[in-house]
Amino acid sequence: MERLDLVVIGGGPAGMAAALGAWHQGVRNILILDREAQLGGILEQCIHNGFGLHHFKEELTGPEYAARYAKEVADCGICCLLDTMVLDLAEALDGSGDKVVTAVSSKEGYLRIHAKTVVLAMGCRERPRGALNTPGTRPAGIYTAGAAQKFVNIKGYMPGKEVVILGSGDIGLIMARRMTLEGAKVKAVCELMPYSGGLTRNIVQCLEDFGIPLKLSHTVVRIHGRERVEGVTIAAVDGSRKPIPGSEEFIPCDTLLLSVGLIPENELSRAAGVKMDPVTGGAVVDQNRQTSLPGVFACGNVLHVHDLVDYVSEEAELAGQSAAAYLRGEAPCGGTVEVKARDGVRYVVPQRLCKDAGPVSLYFRVGDIYKDVKIVVKCGEKVLLSRPKKKVVPGEMERLPLTAGILSQIDGDVTVCLEQKGAE
Ligand SMILES: Cc1cc2nc3c(=O)[nH]c(=O)nc-3n(C[C@H](O)[C@H](O)[C@H](O)COP(=O)(O)OP(=O)(O)OC[C@H]3O[C@@H](n4cnc5c(N)ncnc54)[C@H](O)[C@@H]3O)c2cc1C
Repeated sequence: MERLDLVVIGGGPAGMAAALGAWHQGVRNILILDREAQLGGILEQCIHNGFGLHHFKEELTGPEYAARYAKEVADCGICCLLDTMVLDLAEALDGSGDKVVTAVSSKEGYLRIHAKTVVLAMGCRERPRGALNTPGTRPAGIYTAGAAQKFVNIKGYMPGKEVVILGSGDIGLIMARRMTLEGAKVKAVCELMPYSGGLTRNIVQCLEDFGIPLKLSHTVVRIHGRERVEGVTIAAVDGSRKPIPGSEEFIPCDTLLLSVGLIPENELSRAAGVKMDPVTGGAVVDQNRQTSLPGVFACGNVLHVHDLVDYVSEEAELAGQSAAAYLRGEAPCGGTVEVKARDGVRYVVPQRLCKDAGPVSLYFRVGDIYKDVKIVVKCGEKVLLSRPKKKVVPGEMERLPLTAGILSQIDGDVTVCLEQKGAE
């Protein structure tokens, strides 16, 4: 039973950047665990470009972005155990403060690893059909968009020829274009909400450029077909997202792709007793990305669903650096305050802040589309920061840097909210 300085669970972009963040701060005894046969996480199946514009100032494909990190991990000699599924994370019973990571590996068998620190970087999974309660039969031809992406881009199978996509998050949009390029006819992308959940650039490049209709405020109300999907009935929905009788339309198709949300993979975190945020589905963390368990850090999509991988890498590097600081015995700074989301803001990460921390960036998403607003950070009634914004949308994550000067003014809980421009 080896004792490591840092175990990183998940070898996607978050896990690799976290390991490198710690390595560059002098930590050498690091192990990355991943259940897949290669590093890279979800990026391995994202063969479209659009990755790395912020981080590398270049437009890369997902595998190219991942390969740059995987090469650095290899060059640094960081150990990776692939084909290894982590089953459990717990506190060591010897009072050392260590964590015990239990895993099963195709090569090494059953493993129990003692670690002084752990970074959670398990990413997220897609919401399946079972979570939707759509009436109908259970024919072949219903896939999550990510599963279809893996079939097309990695396995070389085409899931179908005539496709309807439910959900207009980025994966749904990307797959609308991908299926079209591979020769399928994408008949519609239906979105329950009155706005798309994806990035504006993906709506333009993946739907508009290919003439694929985006039906906002629409959902699939029935799936038809016995052996194979034969069509779906879609309907418009009202303000409370209920189907409007009489608005039904039958669309013949052989495939339904679901892109209806991502769920952070936090079974391990929950079982370990990590305090969770009910809105993000991820851990509650401080500005160092430390969870409620000392020495356990979280980053990437397991913490909150990111739109751009560049921000995943940035956050993960910070988590790795924080693990290194923890190993050096640098106590977290005192005076923790809560950061709360209010008035139009759905969530904020980190949810806790130390007032004497250095500069900190707040990441958040809004709950609706708002135009001509101010993003306001307050402590009580005191306005710490107010930033005008022409438009904010739920599909795009917002990032707000707070300087050390702003943080020094904090004397209580912080709120992040939207205000109408012009309002006092
Ligand atoms: C279809 C799609 C298109 C995208 N397009 C873009 C884009 O154009 N531009 C952009 O910047 N971003 C894009 N993204 C977002 C970006 O890919 C993600 O933000 C990023 O991959 C998240 O990184 P991660 O490391 O947190 O998670 P992941 O990449 O999901 O990695 C998590 C890793 O953890 C492993 N794991 C989980 N649980 C365990 C366990 N118990 N034991 C062992 N291993 C485990 C998994 O095998 C996986 O390798 C896209 C994402 C998707 C899905």
